[in-house]
Amino acid sequence: MKLVFASNNAHKLQEVRAIMPEGIEVLSLREVGFCAEIEENGRTLEENSKIKADVVWKYLESNRESLPASIDGVFADDTGLEIDALNGEPGVYTARWYMMPTPSKGKESLPEGEIFHANRSKALRELEGKSDRGAQFRTVITLIRGPKTLQVEGVVRGQIADKESGNGGFGYDPVFIPEGHDCTFAEMSEAEKNAISHRGRALQELVKCLEFSV
Ligand code: IMP
Repeated sequence: MKLVFASNNAHKLQEVRAIMPEGIEVLSLREVGFCAEIEENGRTLEENSKIKADVVWKYLESNRESLPASIDGVFADDTGLEIDALNGEPGVYTARWYMMPTPSKGKESLPEGEIFHANRSKALRELEGKSDRGAQFRTVITLIRGPKTLQVEGVVRGQIADKESGNGGFGYDPVFIPEGHDCTFAEMSEAEKNAISHRGRALQELVKCLEFSV
């Protein structure tokens, strides 16, 4: 089976390819020649992941002749960090939380590493002095395969650390300690993170659905 993953994020692509079983080939957007920006203007993770999958599915449909005939479908993910003491914030704004509540065009052009760093600093700042550090990552994946659309979810509970630790992973990994562990995602191997992560769990659900529907 060949599925397009509606992302060009190299970290995520690597995680997704490591998790998908043999027999499911994952193509990036670049590999199918899709290079447009997708505006993620949904109000929920569910809406945003569907927006991304819909746009790419329409692109695949209208470029069938020039693409490999055997592409079976497309899936898109959207992830939010939901912090208990902040009533589930930043949620759908997780990627650009550092510049909320006043998104400014100029700040979007920061290099990815600086955005991740600014987001983590905001998480540490917002929770300074708070004893409730509970949080979760939640990923929603939308799969479109022909006329069928389905959504699956993966959640990992944990705590926001009181300082950054570790060099692995990306995004908020250096400040997120998953439940049952005493180190951050950034201190784990890729395999350890994938086995318990929000995206890993959502992908495991997706694989189950694909196995039942092949
Ligand atoms: P996206 O919807 O997957 O692009 O994720 C939105 C944002 O959530 C990213 O820009 C990261 O800041 C953060 N994020 C997503 N997945 C992870 C993860 O596995 N670890 C840490 N941060 C993540």
